[in-house]
Amino acid sequence: MGSRHPHWQRKARIIQINRQKAYQAQGCRCHYCGVLMPEPKRIKRFCEEHHINLTDAEQIQCTAEHLVPVSEGGPNSRSNIVAACWYCNHTRHHGAPPGLDHHGYARWVREQQSQGQWLPGRYTHLQPCALTLTGSHA
Ligand SMILES: [Zn+2]
Repeated sequence: MGSRHPHWQRKARIIQINRQKAYQAQGCRCHYCGVLMPEPKRIKRFCEEHHINLTDAEQIQCTAEHLVPVSEGGPNSRSNIVAACWYCNHTRHHGAPPGLDHHGYARWVREQQSQGQWLPGRYTHLQPCALTLTGSHA
């Protein structure tokens, strides 16, 4: 009780700041699937604005995603951190084909989306329209 971990806290703070910068730069949308994400701090407000329940909102809340995973030596720098929804972040590590780098994973997510096999229909109004996913927009 009451023990503090200054080094761990400093690292967490850097990750949080970089996540917030990425979130703003990405227009509040997930790096992989493009869903509109709530900031964890503003999740209740987001539920009211977009008429979804808290459990659903938690699935797409903004998380810090390391493009090169920490386990593979990826740094906590701004260039290695993007904002991704919890669902994409979680699925990268649990469910996606193993061995994909972040480019491969992004492609795989888009394939799933184009087949209607990503976030369930109740999130449809928060996702970019299908045309932008299958079109030439990079
Ligand atoms: Zn996502």
